[in-house]
Amino acid sequence: MKSVKIKDKEFELFIQSNEIEKNIERIAHQINHDLAGKNPIFVAVLNGAFMFAGELMKKVSIPCEITFVRLASYQGTSSTEKVKEVLGLNESIEGRTVVIVEDIVDSGNTMVSLVDELGLQHPLEIKIATLLFKPDALKRDLKLDYVAMEIPSDFIVGYGLDYDGYGRNLNDIYKLKS
Ligand code: 5GP
Ligand code: MG
Repeated sequence: MKSVKIKDKEFELFIQSNEIEKNIERIAHQINHDLAGKNPIFVAVLNGAFMFAGELMKKVSIPCEITFVRLASYQGTSSTEKVKEVLGLNESIEGRTVVIVEDIVDSGNTMVSLVDELGLQHPLEIKIATLLFKPDALKRDLKLDYVAMEIPSDFIVGYGLDYDGYGRNLNDIYKLKS
């Protein structure tokens, strides 16, 4: 499909599934190399990262665990402070090598909150694996360990990412038509 309509918006084909999978395989190989013997626990962020997590785990061959969390946003103590609470983490990550599995890093705010929250549980280290990264949009000081693909600051859907709840099931990635 060259383009798709989701609700009121038109999206055009941007990255095809074979290209996506090739890049996921590349970072899986890096992870296999870097984290061998470390018994990592992957923490995938729902909903957006479900497809990325599935494909990544097919290619990660070292002993590891995977678990899934959700993030709930709520207003912090100051009016500008947005806090993210991590829901659904039942495993202990104390002393573990944690690999966060995210769909996309845009401003970096979500990832910084998540790293801070998980850090409270005293993991040995936290690595970040993201399917997509928008370098031009990054506002935070953040080291991303495994980036499958860098993209410009367009709004995209597909491969787990949604527009208003729809489009997550698309095998390819589409960008909003300008
Ligand atoms: P950040 O906190 O880095 O600004 O944003 C991260 C979150 O915003 C992502 O986890 C994702 O839910 C959402 N997001 C950012 N850019 C896009 C995009 O292009 N498409 C979709 N569907 N979600 C996005
Ligand atoms: Mg996300």
